[in-house]
Amino acid sequence: MTTLKQRLVAQIAQDGPLTVAQYMTAALHDPEAGYYARHAALGADGDFVTAPEISQMFGELVGLWCVDAWAGMGAPSPVALVELGPGGGRMMTDMARVMKVAPAFQQAAHITLVETSPVLRQRQAEALSGLPVSWAAHIGDVPPGPALIVGNEFLDCMPIRQAVRTQTGWRERLVGVRGDDLVFGLSGAAADPSLVPPERADAPVGAVLETAPSLPGFVALLAARFRDHPGRALFVDYGGDGRGDTLQALARHAKVDPLAGPGGADLTAHVDFVTLAELARNAGLDVTGPVGQGAWLGALGIDVRAARLAAARPESAATIERQRRRLVDADAMGVLFQAICLSSPGLPPPAGFA
Ligand code: SAH
Repeated sequence: MTTLKQRLVAQIAQDGPLTVAQYMTAALHDPEAGYYARHAALGADGDFVTAPEISQMFGELVGLWCVDAWAGMGAPSPVALVELGPGGGRMMTDMARVMKVAPAFQQAAHITLVETSPVLRQRQAEALSGLPVSWAAHIGDVPPGPALIVGNEFLDCMPIRQAVRTQTGWRERLVGVRGDDLVFGLSGAAADPSLVPPERADAPVGAVLETAPSLPGFVALLAARFRDHPGRALFVDYGGDGRGDTLQALARHAKVDPLAGPGGADLTAHVDFVTLAELARNAGLDVTGPVGQGAWLGALGIDVRAARLAAARPESAATIERQRRRLVDADAMGVLFQAICLSSPGLPPPAGFA
């Protein structure tokens, strides 16, 4: 059987090198061997652990955040409750449980999971069995109307292109072949000007800039949606500003060579919150944040929630405290991960960002 790597080596040998974005798309979404399409191993026994999988508190607080955001939108009914890239379905499971405190919201919310991977859709169906949910392959397929959209570690798998400053100007980092292996190289010609914003063009030799080519279209789609109907989108992710090489591959909780085994490891890059906020503002959306995940969860009441859970299950108090710290501490996920909210103009401030 040919592996995805062998297929890519053959393709590159014939047609020339791939951009990093093209490589990421193949490695993550190839229908036969892409990481998400086929192998996605999330959770403690898998390749990486995300905030909702660390503790139920994360999804619960996101669920309460949605209840508050919905009230601030004038409590529209129906309202689309959309999760982008739900992975194993853990966050929506915890969100749905706390939504019971607001029966009117629970009634109004039509849950849609935006997921491309058939393997993960199956897993989400199992996690959420009993709940009325539907699936879409793309946010653009979710019917128009008021919406609350949430995504944890969704934007970090948006493919990126990389520009590298060399002695002779900006070049694009490309994936080529040497023998039977995939290797990084640089374009012979100057990098596409869209990869090098003028205000960043003057960076020192060795500097790397990252651009997600699909981000502008994604933001435009949210903006159009939130112009016609009230809406709010919450993203939590590894934060960055588009500077530096942040392409990373994770397998079994360890960083691995991103080119060694395409399809076998998760591939991500830090989200450029500066560009995301700028695109959203230019499209007429209100932008709140980004703020650190620790500060955001703190403002939403994670300490109170942790204390309640610990009181209900004293035998698990130490575990709950460890989980809380992992989510909020500055040397864990509290600062590197950030929350940002994009909203229809004129809505009240979203919770947790004060
Ligand atoms: N949100 C989950 C999983 C994060 S992993 C958690 O926090 O645990 C990324 C998720 O996004 C996976 O479910 C993956 O299949 C999905 N995904 C990645 N790219 C996507 C795309 N372009 N469209 C829809 N879903 C995508």
